[in-house]
Amino acid sequence: MDTNQVAIVTGSSRGIGASTAKLLARNGFSVCINYVSDAGAAKSVRDQIIADGGHAMVVQADVSSADDVARLFSTVDAELGRLSVLVNNAGILMTQCRLEDISEERFLQVLKTNVMGCFLCSKEAIKRMSTDNGGTGGAIVNVSSVAARSGSPNEYVDYAASKGAIDTLTRGLALEVAAQGIRVNAVRPGLIHTEMHASGGESNRVDRLQSKIPMQRGGQPEEIAEAILWLATDKSSFVTGSFIDPSGGL
Ligand code: NAP
Repeated sequence: MDTNQVAIVTGSSRGIGASTAKLLARNGFSVCINYVSDAGAAKSVRDQIIADGGHAMVVQADVSSADDVARLFSTVDAELGRLSVLVNNAGILMTQCRLEDISEERFLQVLKTNVMGCFLCSKEAIKRMSTDNGGTGGAIVNVSSVAARSGSPNEYVDYAASKGAIDTLTRGLALEVAAQGIRVNAVRPGLIHTEMHASGGESNRVDRLQSKIPMQRGGQPEEIAEAILWLATDKSSFVTGSFIDPSGGL
């Protein structure tokens, strides 16, 4: 078990992020729960962690805003201490449609949240973790998707393209900071039972597609959290620039 370590999990008011925050807390991390709009859900995750004997705080911040991200990290500096783990989990998708029906504004918003958010948070994390800057190292885990491989035709090519960018960013950044004590890896979940699918206009999407999954079922957020935990801790101490695909074989 890791003790006295600090983790930020972006977008952890629900779904995969909430499960990850709770699992990190059970493994001794002080966790910053981040959300953009649902304060009640974020506080409920924090309360569950505290009731379970863990340590957690909540910070509202839009990961696509540089000012918000700077405030998120400085709040954690002041209230939790030295950061050792960043999980870039916050992500959005929008109503299923074909590419010709995606507006320029929508495409930009998806890229801003999913890619710019990861970029801005990683930048703040590196400033604190890098041994070149007097830090003691750390781990960044990005949450990509099988969509980076499938391309999500007829559903959300914009979302899939953002996850392709995350994969490339993961690889490049991992190599860039490997000698500075920072490991950078990603998980690429398959179809997971969360509220995200309602944003695409199909809340039962996982059930509809489960017969196409080799394991014949969707995944649970807790199953993704386990992969993230492994990449976040010293159990994966020689792993960087790598991907875990918890997808039931997709
Ligand atoms: P979810 O249930 O929709 O939760 C999304 C989380 O992100 C919420 O906590 C939300 O906060 C937060 N968020 C959204 N925009 C934000 C922003 N601009 N700044 C900060 N936080 C923001 O999603 P999920 O299914 O758990 O997905 C989590 C990650 O896994 C995403 O990156 C997603 O692409 C990836 N993923 C999911 C699946 C799947 O099948 N579910 C598959 C592959 C990959 P609020 O509650 O305040 O809105």
